[in-house]
Amino acid sequence: MSLSPDLPVDTEGWRERAARLCPEGRHFIDGDFAASADGATFEDINPATDEAFATIARGTATDVDRAVASARAAFRAGHWSRMAPRERMDILSRYAELIAAHTDDFALLDVLDTGKPVRNMTDEDVPASVTCFRYFAETIDKIEGAVTNTASDAFHYILREPLGVVGCIVPWNYPLMMAAWKVAPALAAGNSVVLKPAEQSPLSAGLMAQLFVEAGGPPGVFNVVQGYGAEAGEALALHPDVAKIAFTGSVEVGKRMMIYAGQSNMKRVTTECGGKTPQILMADLDDLDTAVDYAVNGIFANQGQVCNAGSRLLVQRGIADDFVARFGQRAAALYAPGDPLDPATTLGSLIDRRQQSRVLDYIDIGRREGAQLMLGGSTPEGFDHGAYVEPTLFAGVANDMRIAREEIFGPVAAVIAFDTPEEAVAIANDSIYGLAASIWTKNVNTAHRMARDIEAGVVWINCFDHGDMTQPWGGYKQSGNGRDKCFESILAHTQTKSVWLHLGQG
Ligand code: NAD
Repeated sequence: MSLSPDLPVDTEGWRERAARLCPEGRHFIDGDFAASADGATFEDINPATDEAFATIARGTATDVDRAVASARAAFRAGHWSRMAPRERMDILSRYAELIAAHTDDFALLDVLDTGKPVRNMTDEDVPASVTCFRYFAETIDKIEGAVTNTASDAFHYILREPLGVVGCIVPWNYPLMMAAWKVAPALAAGNSVVLKPAEQSPLSAGLMAQLFVEAGGPPGVFNVVQGYGAEAGEALALHPDVAKIAFTGSVEVGKRMMIYAGQSNMKRVTTECGGKTPQILMADLDDLDTAVDYAVNGIFANQGQVCNAGSRLLVQRGIADDFVARFGQRAAALYAPGDPLDPATTLGSLIDRRQQSRVLDYIDIGRREGAQLMLGGSTPEGFDHGAYVEPTLFAGVANDMRIAREEIFGPVAAVIAFDTPEEAVAIANDSIYGLAASIWTKNVNTAHRMARDIEAGVVWINCFDHGDMTQPWGGYKQSGNGRDKCFESILAHTQTKSVWLHLGQG
């Protein structure tokens, strides 16, 4: 991978580079940065320090109108939508390399916006986003139509065409990567895009759109409108000239997307929403230490702000006490709060103070519901200056407690003991969510039976959070109806057209 070679190696180096950064918080419309029509802005806060460090354009329906008009004009002009597949592949491949070459910029923008550890960005989010654009670039000339078997007086072929303008509305937990998962298949299929990043993490979106033009993408094909969900987001989702909304975020807002579609133009809507992922640990698993490490990483990585965070740890009763003891030791060894710009930091801050108090409230709820607090439960000592929360573990949790039913979206895990595999599956499925699950066992029969019976879009066996771009990513039930990554995702950004030719005589 050709990532930029000169990444800083210590906190000082990252601070120096951050001091030179000029974050661009305006919209990106028709190939250029632009302020809001009414000039309104809001402040971008670094949640690890509570300091405002950038000014962001506060988009309204007027700005959305401009961006959609630009996207639609570009689409109709065909400079991208009708570009020869090979040419589009070249531009998107070049674009992927440009993102890689700007690893340090993307790392800084997302770290300052979200408080996540810089190493997460350089080792995971940026490389994964680059791979995402490479993957979808490669799919472009693999999209095929069909010729069907018809009566001899007809010739019938089916074209797969892009939809038009795709609105991408994304959350703050992986700003660059979530945008990449939405934008890459939309662009690869030939659509124009208007991206609305989360108001908490606006900055990497502008650089993404700018680099697309630098890579040779025609102006107007990739636009960004900044702003709040209830303003810019709603205007985009209600827009009559938007053909599809590709949404990642909460269940509550995902449902609204469907309502907006019904209230406007019946646009297509795909949703990737929350989760309450069960990790099922059977007593016969091969190696408890390995499973414990995966469980710890599965809930504390990215401060637990992960849609598939393994927040429900279903442990067979015989190993439950041992599991809890080892989990506590490994969590303390692997996750220590620190400055997000320190490459050694493993636990950054949560996204903002609101999320911090929401997570702390859930910890109080857990205590009041009678769960046993085994680890954490508060803000870490010495970290009053940001939105930090300690890695927290509850044992003795029942699946009807709120901490087992609701998505906390923070570093809080709940251990639920069970006796039989059937009971484990029943608990796993007793949830409105169905994004992911994992099963730890040596018994292949148990593993496959559970994988079949679990209601989730992604099931891991003897691992957690493994995957690549071929893996369909999306949920069952209220975890959503779309599939990110994977070939299916590019097809979901196309529509079929039937062309029926009547064959006359001579
Ligand atoms: P959110 O639903 O509050 O916001 C998501 C996006 O929607 C933001 O850009 C926001 O501005 C916008 N929005 C909010 N209200 C809107 C409205 N009324 N109209 C239009 N747009 C609106 O979610 P969040 O708090 O930013 O992100 C966390 C959620 O995202 C969690 O539930 C998490 O599980 C989910 N998530 C899911 C996946 C997945 O792949 N399934 C991945 C990452 C995050």
